Amino acid sequence: MLESNHRAALASIVGPAGFIVAPEDRAAYETAARYGGGKAAAVVRPSTAAQVCAVLRYCVQTGIRYIPQSGNTGLVSGSTPDDSGTQIILSLDRLRSAPGIDVADRTVQVTAGTRLSELNLALEPHGLFLPIDVSADPMIGGMVATNTGGARFLKYGDMRRHVLGLEVALPDEAGTLLQLSGGLRKDNSHLALRQLFIGSCGAFGIITAATLEVHPRPKQAVAAILVPRDEAAVIELLIAFESEAGECLTAFEGISGSAMRRALARFPSLRNPFPEAIPPYVVLMELASSSPCEPGGSTLEARLEAIVTRLAQRESAPVTDARFGQSGHLWAIRHSLSEALRLDGPVVGFDLSFRRGDVMRFRRAAIELLASEFPDYEVCDFGHVADGGVHFNLVGRGGFETDSQRVSELRTRVHTIAIEDFGASFSGEHGIGRANQSAYDHFIPTAIQRYSAAVSDVFSRIPAAAVRFGPPSVERSNS
Ligand SMILES: Cc1cc2nc3c(=O)[nH]c(=O)nc-3n(C[C@H](O)[C@H](O)[C@H](O)COP(=O)(O)OP(=O)(O)OC[C@H]3O[C@@H](n4cnc5c(N)ncnc54)[C@H](O)[C@@H]3O)c2cc1C
Repeated sequence: MLESNHRAALASIVGPAGFIVAPEDRAAYETAARYGGGKAAAVVRPSTAAQVCAVLRYCVQTGIRYIPQSGNTGLVSGSTPDDSGTQIILSLDRLRSAPGIDVADRTVQVTAGTRLSELNLALEPHGLFLPIDVSADPMIGGMVATNTGGARFLKYGDMRRHVLGLEVALPDEAGTLLQLSGGLRKDNSHLALRQLFIGSCGAFGIITAATLEVHPRPKQAVAAILVPRDEAAVIELLIAFESEAGECLTAFEGISGSAMRRALARFPSLRNPFPEAIPPYVVLMELASSSPCEPGGSTLEARLEAIVTRLAQRESAPVTDARFGQSGHLWAIRHSLSEALRLDGPVVGFDLSFRRGDVMRFRRAAIELLASEFPDYEVCDFGHVADGGVHFNLVGRGGFETDSQRVSELRTRVHTIAIEDFGASFSGEHGIGRANQSAYDHFIPTAIQRYSAAVSDVFSRIPAAAVRFGPPSVERSNS
């Protein structure tokens, strides 16, 4: 709960429309897209960068803990408060203004509360887009803070690769607003401090605006779902497509049969590419090009079919079946997986990242182990195989009852195999957040934790409440 003097002070900074205390109005901010949520003392919604600075300065002066929140689509308990009712949600959803598009520079200046879909709508008439593809609609500030990856990382990379400049409000006594780089592609005149804020989940400061490099929209795209011969064939296929399709290969996503089956059952509008029987594992791949098809030239469809045919004719062919279809229909399956699992839940989710060659080896080891030790969970994984990403999702077979002790054992078991046996990361692209804090404390080397905590101290008098970059002993006091 927030004392009345704090309420009055915060409300005077952001105005009545920017200050929410009524429980029914707080609820949407307190509950996250994919996990429970917590209880906030209030939701504070600044509408300018200057207001963000003033709110942070007030938090520093008073010791009030805050949780930055943008689209609230994060998956690691980083954007919602704990259950104490003492933390405020610092929502950036009012930091929205029309994106400043520079067609000549192929860049855009965008405020933190702008939705990815809004930005892409504004870019579309210029033939441009921000090519980060997730099955959700996050805001730019949250995407920078988590360094969002997504399904087209293979071709375009993550948010880090697109951020040319940042505006960041620091949690310090002075209410500092840092302008980090002028949006230039090349600038070695000073340290690239903006890199420290990308992927730091708000622990160092609040992103209020960004300058992003954007890309020409594809003029043609084609997708297919391939059935690999066996596990080893998945990487064989990836290498073959990289060699044969080159820069046209834009996505290569693995989908387990169990995840696909649940999506098709949940959403009857999806078209089942395998009405006879769903294979145990498939790959959704896409070729795209920002060049138009030359008159009389070969289309991407023809190119894709020719590559698949060549691969299918090889001795010990890596592909045993292929389904072509409208790109949108195939991608609809991919984009409905997460929601289908949530509806079927409870889901114990992992956002693991491996060297590419280890993805299928880990999968086999983990599935075998879980079948014997945790038979009450079904593995329903999918992921960005081409960049080593696996959303290793486990769906409880017994309905919605969860035993937190057992879930904790399960998480430790999977993390231990992934990290100790395969050198994986426990956070490929979703950030840290409360959900990953114990893995961070356990698996990240002490030296890295100490240096990270020291960097955090440089920028923030009070780091955001849901992330802690140092061992507990190095965390700053918040009083
Ligand atoms: C169905 C679904 C599919 C997804 N698929 C992918 C995927 O393929 N790849 C991927 O990378 N992610 C994926 N995500 C996760 C999520 O979309 C990303 O983490 C997202 O980019 C977070 O953005 P957001 O605006 O929702 O941020 P939030 O969820 O609001 O916040 C995320 C984190 O950033 C901090 N934060 C938020 N705004 C700011 C700010 N302005 N300044 C500083 N810190 C801030 C928060 O405190 C929190 O720690 C998926 C999520 C869903 C629900």
